[in-house]
Amino acid sequence: MSILSSAVTNLTVKEVEELVESLGEPAYRANQLLNGVYQRLAVSFDEMTDLSLALRQKLEKRITLHTLVPVREIKSRDGTVKILFGLADGKTIEAALMLYAAGAGRPRTTVCLSTQVGCPIGCPFCATGQQGFERNLTPGEMIDQALYFARRVRDAGEDSRHNHITNIVFMGMGEPLANYEALVQAIVVLTSPRCFGTSPRNITISTAGLVPQIRRLSREKVRVGLAVSLHAPYNALRNRLVPLNKRYSLEELIPACREYASTTGRRVSFEYVLFAGVNDSLSQAGALVRLLTGINCHVNLIPANRTADSAFQPPSRTMVLAFEQQLELAGINCTLRLSRGQDIDAGCGQLRSSFIAGM
Ligand code: SAH
Ligand code: SF4
Repeated sequence: MSILSSAVTNLTVKEVEELVESLGEPAYRANQLLNGVYQRLAVSFDEMTDLSLALRQKLEKRITLHTLVPVREIKSRDGTVKILFGLADGKTIEAALMLYAAGAGRPRTTVCLSTQVGCPIGCPFCATGQQGFERNLTPGEMIDQALYFARRVRDAGEDSRHNHITNIVFMGMGEPLANYEALVQAIVVLTSPRCFGTSPRNITISTAGLVPQIRRLSREKVRVGLAVSLHAPYNALRNRLVPLNKRYSLEELIPACREYASTTGRRVSFEYVLFAGVNDSLSQAGALVRLLTGINCHVNLIPANRTADSAFQPPSRTMVLAFEQQLELAGINCTLRLSRGQDIDAGCGQLRSSFIAGM
């Protein structure tokens, strides 16, 4: 096993069972180990006192409990926490925690996870996209971001409304569907009642639009929510904003989204980040209406986060409201939320908790 994969969170449930068996232990020990890692959120094998000392020592020699360590933290005035994690090979990723008070529903404690170091898609407005691509994360590196925040909210102890993770969104650094197998393994573990136990209903994957993987995801047993980063209502503009559109155009993407909704029974969300003078005109709102009419979907409108690139700035509030109104008048389901954590640059230079709020 390499330095990157030798963690217990990189194992499937079956592999944990095999590990326990290979150490000459009875099968029920696998459940105790899973319970220690995912429910009790242990930080060392020593804490798993229901395991014998001999087994804890054997585990210590064979496997690690951690794939990442927090190296920096920033807290926003609205309570959003962004963490920079260091990985075993010295690379870094970001993840964020967002607390939402009870609005229409229950209070939500949401984590936003990264799936890659950097990103191969290269959207010009995105801080991660401008960093280039370094590597895929392992399943354990994705899961450990969630476990870190789960421990943190449990141990904070001061806010009983936010003492466990209720929602997981894959909207941090990277293109989740470009790291497909690892992503699905992480989701299977995170949703398994024997492990972290998050309901698939409360998990959302955001994608720039990898069409074959959207179709494949619609056939997986775990049915998670899908958010598609649209940002433009026609190809010429989308080619510029989301370069992946040159490979999978709107003529392929939109039918794949329809198929996702009909196969999984889950409404697809479209993310539309508004950039002043780029994609925020009323005629573009009209084109968006024409593109989406008749699709069982929800649109999340998000004024852009300011980045270093002056070509991609947020529109005025008046423009944003006029755009929203045009969609609403046409009967398109949409939400406009101003960003969280803006004073700390949200997360990942592009972590978009505003549209996460609706999921
Ligand atoms: N790669 C995936 C998921 C990570 S990006 C995707 O693109 O969907 C998560 C979201 O942040 C995407 O909708 C992306 O377009 C958005 N985003 C990136 N940079 C942004 C910025 N400067 N302002 C607002 N949203 C941004
Ligand atoms: Fe990658 Fe998403 Fe950023 Fe585009 S917006 S570069 S797909 S992380």
